[in-house]
Amino acid sequence: MKLRRAAAWLLWWAIPVLAWAQQPAEMKPVTDRLAASIYNGPSVATLGELADGIGGRLTGSPAYVRSTEWAAAKFRSYGIENVKLEPFTIPAGWQRGTATGAMLAPLARPLNLASMGWAPSTPAGGVQGTVVVVADVAPEGLKSRAGELRGKIVLLDTTRIYADGYGKALPKMEAAWLTFQKAGVLAVVFADRDKNNVLNAHSVGWGAKLLPLPAAEIGMEDAKLIQREMERGPVIIQFTIENKTSGETTVNNVVAEIRGSERPEEWILIGAHLDSWDFGTGAQDNGTGAISVLEIGRALMSLGKAPRRSVRLALWGGEEQGLLGSYAYTQTHLDELDKCVAVLNTDNGAGHPKGWKVEGREDLKKAMQPWSDGLLKDLNGGELSTDTTYDTDHGPFLLQGIPALDLSVDMTHYFEIHHKSSDTIDKVDALDFKAGEAIVAVTAYAIAQNETPIAPHIDHAAVGEIVKKAKLEDLLVNVGVWKP
Ligand SMILES: [Zn+2]
Repeated sequence: MKLRRAAAWLLWWAIPVLAWAQQPAEMKPVTDRLAASIYNGPSVATLGELADGIGGRLTGSPAYVRSTEWAAAKFRSYGIENVKLEPFTIPAGWQRGTATGAMLAPLARPLNLASMGWAPSTPAGGVQGTVVVVADVAPEGLKSRAGELRGKIVLLDTTRIYADGYGKALPKMEAAWLTFQKAGVLAVVFADRDKNNVLNAHSVGWGAKLLPLPAAEIGMEDAKLIQREMERGPVIIQFTIENKTSGETTVNNVVAEIRGSERPEEWILIGAHLDSWDFGTGAQDNGTGAISVLEIGRALMSLGKAPRRSVRLALWGGEEQGLLGSYAYTQTHLDELDKCVAVLNTDNGAGHPKGWKVEGREDLKKAMQPWSDGLLKDLNGGELSTDTTYDTDHGPFLLQGIPALDLSVDMTHYFEIHHKSSDTIDKVDALDFKAGEAIVAVTAYAIAQNETPIAPHIDHAAVGEIVKKAKLEDLLVNVGVWKP
């Protein structure tokens, strides 16, 4: 009797465990074919077409437009029929022109300088003025300094301004621009954070809005020199930037769909941003991610039979200006997000892969574990991390309560190239790149094919808990994508 009861207990527990454990094994013959197709596939050559053939793809620029047409044609060449360019608008278009600058006094020497993204051009002949450091942009203090700021060039001490986090500083910075403008500040300069006067392409605001004043970044050592010279006396600098700007601009996301073979109304989405900054050719930020999405489309089509659920393949614009394309998608497709089973994003470079970030969701981590152990471990993708960020395009989906996964890779060397002129294809390790692609492909297939959804959607309050725990509330509220 005792033995029978024990056996019954064992059976009771073993059945669900076996069901879990068997699913990855059942899918393995197919996912092995998928991974093999990726490893033997043309991703490196395709990345060459994008990074070297089209180059940097600043959102809204002619190069970005070319990249969307190129990507749509690629999807079609793989036999995917449902391919669309889906438009959204950004407040302003911006393209970089030329930038030169120099310290005039006390030393005469050139400055390593570039325009800040979405900065207007300087007046003809440039701006020239004495440098004043502003380390606190609290409105009252800044207004009391208005007289002192007139006709000057402000060097913003961003280390102090962003000390309490970027999100908290955002509204203060927005107000500060207007105070500077009213006070008659000529221009604003920022010190870059990287040594050797290396410059990182970036903008200071959120959402592709034109800055009210000309703004430039200066190499770290140059900025330090300016500050040391200021202890000895006034420092005069001069700079000229010429950019092309336009008003509200339409930008396209590229979205392709492979219809599911059994439950086509349910879908998963694999996404990566196609836009890049313009110093380099956007090879790893995010050429490798974008090519992964294309490659997974090609490899899935090569299987001959689609998984149960539909797979949407999305290439976003406007990521670098604040996840604008993916956010727009969640708003345009709001009424069908309940049918989205999961979102997989890849945008952390092509370092040696680790696995997935499950964005704060312990339940998703638990649900993913059998797949990580059964299918992804052997591909170098078995790790699961609950780290939560709003730094790339899984973010808007996370806020909708959708299970959102972001590919996790070794980022030790990523910031040596990130947003820099060295973000070029020669830094891409083909094997690490393909390993990352294979992990995304296999995970996507497993989630799209599995009998039950990987994890449920969570409600607003539960998302709020994740947002709070990750200390993202200030940022999300201040950029207008979240109401607690
Ligand atoms: Zn990126």
